[in-house]
Amino acid sequence: MNNSLVVDDTHFFADVCQFFDHAAQFTKHPQGLLDQIKTCNSVYRFQFPIRKGNSFEVIHAWRVEHSHHMSPTKGGIRYSDMVNEDEVMALAALMTYKCAIVNVPFGGAKGGIKINPKNYTVAELETITRRYTVELIKKNFIGPGIDVPAPDYGSGEREMSWIADTYYTMNPGQLDAMGCVTGKPIALHGIAGRREATGRGVAIAVRECVSVAEDMKPLGLTAGLEGKKVIVQGLGNVGYHSAKYLTEYGATVVGLCEYDGALYNPDGLDFEAVMNHRKQTGSILGFNGATQEFKNPAEGLEQECDILVPAALENQVTEANIGRIKAKVIAEGANGPTSPQAAAAFLERGGIIIPDMYCNAGGVTVSYFEWLKNLSHVAFGRMDKRYEENANLNLVNTLEAMTGATLGAAERKMIIKGASELELVNSGLEDTMIRSYHE
Ligand code: GLU
Repeated sequence: MNNSLVVDDTHFFADVCQFFDHAAQFTKHPQGLLDQIKTCNSVYRFQFPIRKGNSFEVIHAWRVEHSHHMSPTKGGIRYSDMVNEDEVMALAALMTYKCAIVNVPFGGAKGGIKINPKNYTVAELETITRRYTVELIKKNFIGPGIDVPAPDYGSGEREMSWIADTYYTMNPGQLDAMGCVTGKPIALHGIAGRREATGRGVAIAVRECVSVAEDMKPLGLTAGLEGKKVIVQGLGNVGYHSAKYLTEYGATVVGLCEYDGALYNPDGLDFEAVMNHRKQTGSILGFNGATQEFKNPAEGLEQECDILVPAALENQVTEANIGRIKAKVIAEGANGPTSPQAAAAFLERGGIIIPDMYCNAGGVTVSYFEWLKNLSHVAFGRMDKRYEENANLNLVNTLEAMTGATLGAAERKMIIKGASELELVNSGLEDTMIRSYHE
């Protein structure tokens, strides 16, 4: 049986290449060029020691830059004791394709630190993260115009703030230093919405996919998310926000799977309550709102539902369990959760897969705006306001030119600031000019 949430394979990069070859056969590009697109340009593997209590420990780490067709390269850093070179290469390649699909001008990259963060104190994690960053700086594997890391499985805003601080300390006065990493806390040059972005993007992708009635009909489903039953695997940042926004858009979360077990309730699970339960007890198991509980998390994926959202790790839906998956739509919140063989079998029986490189691209898309904000040194709120006011000023000037009338200073000011019609009427200033502005 597929041991869900455990990654023990070293064929992930080969799987990604297999998907690539499948798509490439429909293009006319020469083989040499296709080979160049597929290959990982730079693979940096390194080790460094840390002190843990009275002893030392060697930490294994990677940064892979898959494609330099655009600069900088971009992709998260995975903190996991299962991380390996093949995995980081595969994830870096997926970043290249992901950025290309959503037209975000980055090459793909990925990093990995082979640790289980739960086994380290915050101080140790900070030491590891800062040392990792220094190693990248030494080899020119990080920088706002070189390679820009971000969070991934096992890392988040806290780690990104350590990276930014280390980079800035080592590059004093570099104006664009904060653009060396994204996914930073908002108070530290981050951007509103980055945390939610990947999960929100997953939910939007699913919402749009199931809105097409003629695609849903062969699956025996009605169009729209309303009442659709969803199983989410992984209650990390991506899984949690996918569940949150899918619920907001009308779906019902009936199943949740984590590394230590799974929950199911055909009438719906209150996933916020599950999160609280996990916070208090350390596990999702034992939650009293579930009708079924599975010690083997893989069983959770196989329960009755319309949509399955694997939002944890790669290689979760394989030849071994695809026959038992009941979902009609698989929305890949994680990178590479469905093996090529499982994907072929699922498509063969009429299922729809929303592929990872599109489905979970919301994260890197918002990262792009964070990076832009860091480089432009203008906060978006301020920038928007200024654009908006300029547009309104143009409107007033055009209206005046067209009608030959002149607005009073008070009306001009209100319109430029974007006042609504009601506000203008209530102000008692409304005249013909203002009416024509709203017609
Ligand atoms: N780790 C995320 C991903 O797999 C985010 C990448 C980024 O924001 O650069 O897409």
